Amino acid sequence: MQSTVTPTHCPYCALQCGMNLTPVPDGTVEVSERADFPVNRGALCGKGRTAAAVLAREARLNSPLVRDEGGSLVPASWDEALDRIAAGLGGTRARYGPDAVGVFGGGGLTNEKAYTLGKFARVVLGTSQIDYNGRFCMSSAAAAGIKAFGLDRGLPFPLEDIPKSGCVILVGSNLAETMPPALRFFTELKENGGTLIVIDPRRTKTAEHADLHLAPRPGTDLALALGLLHLVIAEGRVDEEYVRERTAGWEDARAAAMAHWPEYVERITGVSVPELRETVRLFCEPESAMVLTARGPEQQSKGTDTVGAWINLCLATGRAGRPLSGYGCLTGQGNGQGGREHGQKADQLPGYRKLDDPAARAHVAGVWGVDPDSLPGPGRSAYELLDALGTDIRSLLLMASNPVVSAPRAAHIEERIRSLDFLAVCDVVLSETAALADVVLPVTQWAEETGTTTNLEGRVLLRRRAITPPEGIRSDLEVLHELAARLGVEKGFPTDPEEVFEELRRASAGGAADYSGITYRRLVEEDGVFWPCPAAVEAAGEGADTLPDAPAGQTPGVHPGTPRLFLDRFATADGRARFVPVSHRAIAEEPDEEYPVLLTTGRVVAQYQSGAQTRRVAELNAAAPGPFVELHPRLAARLGAAEGDPVAVVSRRGRAVAPARITNAIRPDTVFMPFHWPGEGRANTLTNPALDPTSRMPEFKACAVRLEAVRR
Ligand code: SF4
Repeated sequence: MQSTVTPTHCPYCALQCGMNLTPVPDGTVEVSERADFPVNRGALCGKGRTAAAVLAREARLNSPLVRDEGGSLVPASWDEALDRIAAGLGGTRARYGPDAVGVFGGGGLTNEKAYTLGKFARVVLGTSQIDYNGRFCMSSAAAAGIKAFGLDRGLPFPLEDIPKSGCVILVGSNLAETMPPALRFFTELKENGGTLIVIDPRRTKTAEHADLHLAPRPGTDLALALGLLHLVIAEGRVDEEYVRERTAGWEDARAAAMAHWPEYVERITGVSVPELRETVRLFCEPESAMVLTARGPEQQSKGTDTVGAWINLCLATGRAGRPLSGYGCLTGQGNGQGGREHGQKADQLPGYRKLDDPAARAHVAGVWGVDPDSLPGPGRSAYELLDALGTDIRSLLLMASNPVVSAPRAAHIEERIRSLDFLAVCDVVLSETAALADVVLPVTQWAEETGTTTNLEGRVLLRRRAITPPEGIRSDLEVLHELAARLGVEKGFPTDPEEVFEELRRASAGGAADYSGITYRRLVEEDGVFWPCPAAVEAAGEGADTLPDAPAGQTPGVHPGTPRLFLDRFATADGRARFVPVSHRAIAEEPDEEYPVLLTTGRVVAQYQSGAQTRRVAELNAAAPGPFVELHPRLAARLGAAEGDPVAVVSRRGRAVAPARITNAIRPDTVFMPFHWPGEGRANTLTNPALDPTSRMPEFKACAVRLEAVRR
């Protein structure tokens, strides 16, 4: 047993809090405070504090499982399980062609795994059908960021800038529950005299900290942002010089905003004109201000336009690309940022390159040692891929995701998964999706392996191995190596994470998310490096002239990383940010007589994503044992429901039942359900898979439902 303390990072959310791990005799670790990591300064939420519980043998998968003739999952040797997967995927490919094989990844995979999974899909399987669950997370913010700034990095500035800003508008983020240690940046903002405005249909724990809380109808954030921009223009608060010098496309965006009169916006959103005016005043008066979005505005069938409208507000007021100001997205999953940069997304190659760009294909194919023409083109987005299971896609390899609980219209997706010819799942626990597989492989976890993640700030971090994995467990990289060999590709799939990272550096060089100047050694010495970080002057070649002077204490010629983006220019061809003209449109499914109430979904502090891991932690389960339906007293009275009574929520896609939680903290026209649980109370049974036309994000955040009392 190793006895030293290992500094590393939490396995859960995108904050990637620093923590120390000490091995303990039962083979797991003790988690302790690590005060020197600047993001969380030692603070951890309950999920992070109890993260070691999932390392215990009783909580996890300990052996490969295969489905026997009787239909049960039974233990098997690694060779048998890997042979079956190779036969399942290879057989489908031989019979139906490569695109009949699908690959589904996750935003929790390390950069090395996400990179290798994308390479495996395209080089070994030859399939275009790969996407990942991050598509359900922040893909509309990513799409809007690329449209406006030419680049998507969740936050273009470090979290430490937030307390020094003059005003922050937080749109659709309940970070007091999703990432509690981040709350201090906002409480410090207020202590420093700054203003916090929270926009959320619910008076959440985060909203309780706000100076001003606006509670719009779910799905109307786009109209809200347009109304604010209208007032900015009408009140003469546009930063004309900035708009002239640093942006393009203003006139069209201006015209679109002017069509959204405050009174019209009040009717759409339920936010009053005086509240709109006050928001504009608070946002425009300070020298610096930010808008930060999260899943609320992003998980909509118009998510890209909604985020675009908030970016337009930042551009018109001269906020983006200025100190202590700008637009940022609070990414959710542990490696939600890195997971979308290195090739597990349907349309992407490593380095945040586009799969349909001939130069990008040539560069990455060169690193991979393959013919660029052999690489498939872009494939289906996550929901479309899942929806094609059992029809166009006959076999699936799935890693680190649990769509049976987390996908929209989940009962339908579960049915599609059950109709597959073959399903293989790599996971640490027997999730609801893994339980449907033909083969399940038990893989190593955060504390048992080394690898990099990229947090919501774009800070690349090294998670370090603190303990040896138990016997019978292998890493995802070993799995992909073994499968590649069985499918006829002997070389190019290393099992050592640092070796993979070295290849990723080369593959990302020159791309938008350039990691070529980052090494494991630097990540240890500097405790994280912000991308883009091109290689050193000697190796960088083109672009070497642009290296900034080395900061004090750093080696000349070594790029220091880029904590703050866009201060001089945006990442567009002409260096200007782009306004994108957008207009209000309704949600895909407005309430009507049959389904008169709006449903919105979200998270609770003690559970994470589909709950596959956190539902296995006793302390977290005790704190949040099951789903609930949050509703306003008026709605409860109409239904005749008292606190704790079972309530059925019915949408056009199905029915979910959970106890009533009655509160004034939600709008009377809206109910809320957290989505962490399977079974009767599965919130995603209800959600609408209407997709955003640009990002292909489903509409998780608003659909029409009716409520029914349940007599038991
Ligand atoms: Fe882990 Fe996120 Fe909690 Fe930090 S806030 S301890 S990263 S789950």
